[in-house]
Amino acid sequence: MTAVIEIKNLSKSFGSHEVLRDVNFSVKKGEVVCLIGSSGSGKSTLLRCVNLLETPSGGSIIYNGDNILDNKHDLEEYRTHLGMVFQQFNLFNNLNVLGNCTVGQQKVLKRSKAEAIDKAIEYLEIVGMSTYKNAKPRQLSGGQKQRVAIARALAMDPEVMLFDEPTSALDPEMVGEVLKVMRALADQGNTMLIVTHEMEFAREVADRIVFMDKGVIVEEGHPEQVLVNPQHERTKEFLKRTL
Ligand code: ADP
Ligand code: MG
Repeated sequence: MTAVIEIKNLSKSFGSHEVLRDVNFSVKKGEVVCLIGSSGSGKSTLLRCVNLLETPSGGSIIYNGDNILDNKHDLEEYRTHLGMVFQQFNLFNNLNVLGNCTVGQQKVLKRSKAEAIDKAIEYLEIVGMSTYKNAKPRQLSGGQKQRVAIARALAMDPEVMLFDEPTSALDPEMVGEVLKVMRALADQGNTMLIVTHEMEFAREVADRIVFMDKGVIVEEGHPEQVLVNPQHERTKEFLKRTL
């Protein structure tokens, strides 16, 4: 299997604070990779470096064989291949559900309004939110907002979906509906990189688990291997606190 995204020797510092150090990993086509680790270990920063919301301090991001940090690449174009779902939804509050799911398609992908609406409805149906197409974000529950955010990202036809703790801001009763949608996306073969604290979900859905601690990847492997039979003391400590 070829890697869609390959991260090599990635580092990131904020001033003198080194947040990521020599991070190496890849996401292959159709693979679901779950990134786990304590708060402050650098998971969000890593995801933000992957989609260039943060500029890495060093290393490479190889996208389909090209290092997109080598100055020759159109970073905006690269970004359109990545869909991002944030903990806090980040919906446009002034737009309704349909507007949220069409604005990027029209502005960035230059799709016609009709085409953008068709796509939006298609994905809103997949996440079970098409009947809310005229609602404003403030009229929705957290779980509904997150499902719209997922549909919005999918409507851009990204090659990789990035999720940063998509259920951490939700009331417990809404976590399930979002995980169900994500599970379906995984089953359909979407390529996904997911930061999550939902260990049961990660164990069931991930092809690979990557455990980060203090800015480095400590351990990675098959879910059964990392979650059930961890090799490193730091992984064991983390899992003891989490499970
Ligand atoms: P996680 O997502 O694993 O909880 P983060 O990537 O959010 O971790 O943060 C890792 C470290 O980087 C933390 O110590 C955090 O304070 C620091 N950090 C993150 N973003 C910034 C920033 N924009 N400026 C300075 N420090 C930051
Ligand atoms: Mg985070």
